Amino acid sequence: MGAKPILWIVIPCYNEEEVLNTSAPLFLEKINALIKAEKISKNSRILFVNDGSKDKTWDIITELSGKDEHYIGISQSRNRGHQNAVLAGLMEAKDNCDITISIDCDGQDDINAMDAMVDEYLNGCEIVYGVRSKRSTDTAFKRMTAEGFYKVMNLMGAEVVFNHADYRLVSSLVLNHFADYHEVNIFLRGMFPLVGFKSTSVYYERHERIAGESHYPLRKMIALAYDGITSMSVKPINFITGFGAVVGLMGFIGVLWAVITSLAGNTVAGWASIVCIVCFLGGIQLLSLGIIGGYVGKTYMETKQRPRYIISHRTWEKTERHYIEEDEKNE
Ligand code: UDP
Ligand code: MG
Repeated sequence: MGAKPILWIVIPCYNEEEVLNTSAPLFLEKINALIKAEKISKNSRILFVNDGSKDKTWDIITELSGKDEHYIGISQSRNRGHQNAVLAGLMEAKDNCDITISIDCDGQDDINAMDAMVDEYLNGCEIVYGVRSKRSTDTAFKRMTAEGFYKVMNLMGAEVVFNHADYRLVSSLVLNHFADYHEVNIFLRGMFPLVGFKSTSVYYERHERIAGESHYPLRKMIALAYDGITSMSVKPINFITGFGAVVGLMGFIGVLWAVITSLAGNTVAGWASIVCIVCFLGGIQLLSLGIIGGYVGKTYMETKQRPRYIISHRTWEKTERHYIEEDEKNE
């Protein structure tokens, strides 16, 4: 049998001081169980990515890293958002492990699904998506908006796995190809399917947060959906063109109607109709301009090629992969 794969669990953390001390031991327990079951190497790690937290999150992470060698952490120089935090962690991990699993630190995603994910990897899958089978613990409102989110995304041409967030196993093979995607506007769950390779899904039930509050209220979810759509597809532009054509046709009919009625001498002080048309068209034009402007803005950001994450601190020293393997051989 070949060497057992090294697993790195990548966990983004933003202001999670209330949660971390409860959830970290659960991750450790899981990784130890997987090591014991001889599915993964004992050089596996739990990598916390502090996303510029304003509370004690980083202190807790450094404390944890002193307690057990499996815990390590990196810190972003400032808050950059969940997607960038996950990306930073994955890029940190990719040359030091064989597989990564990204998961939130709040205990909402079922840790026990990791066994099935690793099994799927051992069976030859390079990407394993964690899919929520039930959302019974979410409020009806969160469930509805979250499921609407996936439907709108797919309708708008950003293909995403239904009810999959960012709980997934990705092999280092995939990550090395993924590293060639240099875009600044990242939407991980829509990008990994583009990389290809054999993939599958495992299903799990979504739990309640251990403590603390969601960082994704409706406003941020809409922003994420909009961001995802405009990062992944240009369908909205096609919609605008189609919509513009229909409105234009209606406008043409309106003009004919206006000319004919005025020629017939039946003109009245058509204030209301003019105001309606002006308002309607004004609104549509602003909306369209806004969406197109969104794309222009994104192009602008992409041309800058700014770094997508900046790591300011590490609890570990980046070692070369072959040293780790040497250690394993010596034992
Ligand atoms: N998170 C982050 N940076 C942010 C916001 C959130 O790293 O700017 C992390 C957060 O600590 C958590 C995960 O992303 O581990 C998901 O956030 P949250 O649980 O608030 O979202 P929800 O599960 O409610 O969608
Ligand atoms: Mg959560």
